Amino acid sequence: MQIHSNYSLKAHNTFGIEAKAEKFVAIKQLADLREALALSIKPVYLLGGGSNLLLTQNLKGLVIKNEIKGKAIVRRFKKSVYVEVGAGENWHEFVMWCIEKDLGGVENLSLIPGTVGAAPIQNIGAYGVELMDCFHALEALNLETGKLQRFRKKDCQFAYRESIFKKDLKGKYCITKVWLKLSIGMHKIRTKYGAILKELEQQNIVKPNIRDVSEAVIQIRSTKLPDPAKLGNSGSFFKNPVIPQQQFTALQKRFPAIIFYQLSDQQVKIPAGWLIEQCGWKGKKVGQTGAHRNQALVLVNYGKATGQEVLQLAKDIQQSVLEKFGVQLNREVNAW
Ligand code: FAD
Ligand code: NAP
Repeated sequence: MQIHSNYSLKAHNTFGIEAKAEKFVAIKQLADLREALALSIKPVYLLGGGSNLLLTQNLKGLVIKNEIKGKAIVRRFKKSVYVEVGAGENWHEFVMWCIEKDLGGVENLSLIPGTVGAAPIQNIGAYGVELMDCFHALEALNLETGKLQRFRKKDCQFAYRESIFKKDLKGKYCITKVWLKLSIGMHKIRTKYGAILKELEQQNIVKPNIRDVSEAVIQIRSTKLPDPAKLGNSGSFFKNPVIPQQQFTALQKRFPAIIFYQLSDQQVKIPAGWLIEQCGWKGKKVGQTGAHRNQALVLVNYGKATGQEVLQLAKDIQQSVLEKFGVQLNREVNAW
């Protein structure tokens, strides 16, 4: 295991922001993780694919990049299987592996960047599916005690883009393995969300299988979202706000064209992208950063943006949405 000093993280974050780590190691197995922690360099930052990250400064301490690999079907039943996946596996490659083996459950989550180990951190979600829908358990190492612990679904406190690892246990555990329960044979096909049905109709697909759904999602995402390899970004910068019905009714009176999704009798979700667009930010460039021209929720780096610059833009956007709509936007991206 090689320990790098004063190491550039530019290639390790999809925003493409330059920042240096005082010390950096890539771990390929559990023993590497233990060895890295035994260096007693603090603080420790756990890095996956860097696709949900905004680097705002050079980092003192140790950055540990998780490259623990491995994926296998470990139990097989009549209608389902359990798969065990190393935390450092690439999420999308794992989804493609599932499609090849006709394992259902993750096809709507195609083309999400990052690692399998980071997927439970914010309970990744897209097109009406969240990781928690097929999550079984995970293994994580307690950074303080060095003990390996198993977390089942109920232990993870999953919610919309949330888990215990973003709250009470933030930065306290390194996830090393994940187990998912996937379907075989009879799959639940989910096409009602976003533009999936429209995309399938265009291709004259009437009875889609999981591969069709995956390909439709890939097609929609590739045309709509900026590719981080060409334009630095970290996906949705903010979460979609969920507000009480009463507040929403008052808002709708003032803005009759407001887009919304009724989550329950009491709660309404408003797409953050719409709120940001209404405040005039969509496609707007501010120095080296800005809100993307197709999806205002995605903040981008035009090449030389600093993390501080992106953070300032985010604050300005939050302020204008608050002033115009009285709605507080909360960040989805992790800032270091
Ligand atoms: P990183 O950015 O490396 O880390 C994110 C957080 O997880 C950090 O706090 C880090 O410390 C922690 N972490 C990482 N690995 C571990 C580990 N092994 N143990 C403990 N902590 C760890 N997200 C969605 O939910 N849905 C989407 O549809 C979606 N689309 C995206 C599209 C684009 C173009 C981009 C750039 C991002 C998108 N994202 C989406 C966000 C991002 O891809 C996910 O949040 C992803 O799970 C992050 O994985 P990562 O490995 O890159 O994590
Ligand atoms: P979209 O389809 O244009 O929809 C805009 C927003 O409306 C989405 O954020 C989605 O919320 C919500 N929405 C759409 N259809 C809905 C429905 N039937 N019921 C409830 N809510 C609905 O969104 P998009 O930007 O192209 O993204 C498509 C999907 O990929 C979304 O699920 C989005 O979350 C996900 N995505 C996530 C990231 C990220 O970084 N987190 C980046 C890109 C895309 P939800 O976000 O709550 O699903």
